[in-house]
Amino acid sequence: MSAYGGMTLRDGRNVEVQCDLRSDTVTQPDAGMRAAMAAAEVGDDVYGDDPTVNRLEATMAERMGKEAGLYVSSGTQSNLLALLAHCRRGEEVIVGSEYHIYADEAAGASVLGGMSLCPVETESGGEIAPEVVRGAIKEDDSHYAVSRLLCLENTVHGRALSLDAMEAPAEVARAAGLSVHLDGARFFNAITALQCDATELSGVADTVSVCLSKGLGAPVGSVLSGPKDLIASARRYRKMVGGGMRQAGVLAAGGLYALEHQVPLLAADHARAGAFAAALRTLDVGGVDQRTNMVFFTPQAGDVDGLVDHLAGVGVRIGGQSPTIRLVVHRDADDVALDLAVSGIRSFYGA
Ligand SMILES: *Cc1c(COP(=O)(O)O)cnc(C)c1O
Repeated sequence: MSAYGGMTLRDGRNVEVQCDLRSDTVTQPDAGMRAAMAAAEVGDDVYGDDPTVNRLEATMAERMGKEAGLYVSSGTQSNLLALLAHCRRGEEVIVGSEYHIYADEAAGASVLGGMSLCPVETESGGEIAPEVVRGAIKEDDSHYAVSRLLCLENTVHGRALSLDAMEAPAEVARAAGLSVHLDGARFFNAITALQCDATELSGVADTVSVCLSKGLGAPVGSVLSGPKDLIASARRYRKMVGGGMRQAGVLAAGGLYALEHQVPLLAADHARAGAFAAALRTLDVGGVDQRTNMVFFTPQAGDVDGLVDHLAGVGVRIGGQSPTIRLVVHRDADDVALDLAVSGIRSFYGA
């Protein structure tokens, strides 16, 4: 029995899902994590009384080399609170046009914070070139928004950006008096691939957001880390947007467990993604690209819907992105599951 239950196909058949590669957010808390959650000591976190939340916040802040941490419900909320804490109305955030904060967060910072998002082109590796930051920073002129913050991201659609690629734009921003926020939803995938210490990457930014609910397997939550005053401000904004949680230690315990037990397993996810990509390359399915725990390929035009349906029929769930399909490897997609995906793709192409 798979943990993912059944899925109803377009033709009405019901199939047991054996492999779900839509995202690493589908990972389920394992027995050890559930036990840690069940045993969590809790209190009312809005009063600061939840020892497990406090421990998670302190643990993440320490790993990031920052003064304070704030446990929040999602990566989107974490980024939003960071932007609200950094910027006033009428100020501006420079952000890569393909980054989540610009492309996938419903313009929350503009809607709720009155700030403008200035999207800039990224390079093919996902980084923002330093001269692009220089060109985007506005001079002090009453016609313009006030440039206040640079948002970086790592990993970017699976690509792990080098420390140099992070530091170069951050330096330009800092020299002009801007602050830097890092959306590190998959921060630990990045440092696993870069084989660097957490603080080497977190050190490029003032505030860092890290998701616990993706490849790390926790059911809920992200932590925003940064200087005390900014985190205190973010805590007030968290209350304002209705994000204050009470006995949240039940959830935070899953996050602590993830930091301790799941971070070391990400290297194995990346290795399995590498083997999976190698298997797909033998099938001639069209440009296969592996980046950390993600594998991308671009099937022939018109193939995507048919492929999604065919794989669903053998119990393999993938996203329907077009023209390039993203397959995300994670702790619950073991070798047996990935073999099933490869054989499903092979049978679709009649190879
Ligand atoms: C997933 C993701 C987020 C947002 O996380 P949610 O918990 O889904 O809100 C932010 N940034 C990046 C780069 C992400 O991949």
